[in-house]
Amino acid sequence: MGPAYISVVDLASAMSELSEPVAYSEYQCVECDYSLDTRSEITCFAELQRSSLHIQSYDTVAQILGRLLSMTSQRVCPECSGKLIKNTYMNEAPQLLILHIPYANIKISQKMNIGGKTLCLKGVVYYGNYHYTSRMIDSDKNIWFHDGMTTGSGSQSQGSVTKIKSKYLNKCNRKSVALLVYAQI
Ligand SMILES: [Zn+2]
Repeated sequence: MGPAYISVVDLASAMSELSEPVAYSEYQCVECDYSLDTRSEITCFAELQRSSLHIQSYDTVAQILGRLLSMTSQRVCPECSGKLIKNTYMNEAPQLLILHIPYANIKISQKMNIGGKTLCLKGVVYYGNYHYTSRMIDSDKNIWFHDGMTTGSGSQSQGSVTKIKSKYLNKCNRKSVALLVYAQI
């Protein structure tokens, strides 16, 4: 995945900034009709490393993403002092969605429904010991492992994603999840 000193998270975020907006967000008061447009939390990249998402080991990726789409905030309504919730609405389902979620113990959803479309897990990027590796999942649901230091330009077959145990994708040779890559089928 390239030299260790390039952050794959920064790279994914920067690449995704070039995309058309796929969502819009607004703060909405839980007590009255007040709302305020704000920057969307989602492009083709979404940061899930946020304390406000209260991530637990029993959460699925789909559940965490759901909380990002309707997120509590510290802000209060200027009209009535009620709590403001930051809601995000998808204009369209993204073709590609890269999630930064550096927690090893969540449940990695293989499919998610977003904006009326199904997004499938296509890859996982792992980080550890100053080095990135990855697993890709092809359209026949086969897992392919890639590590530039050992597999070179090729990839190593790791069987079918339909036969793995639920936590298999959370770790890879003692490296932990850095990014999850989803795409429409
Ligand atoms: Zn209000």
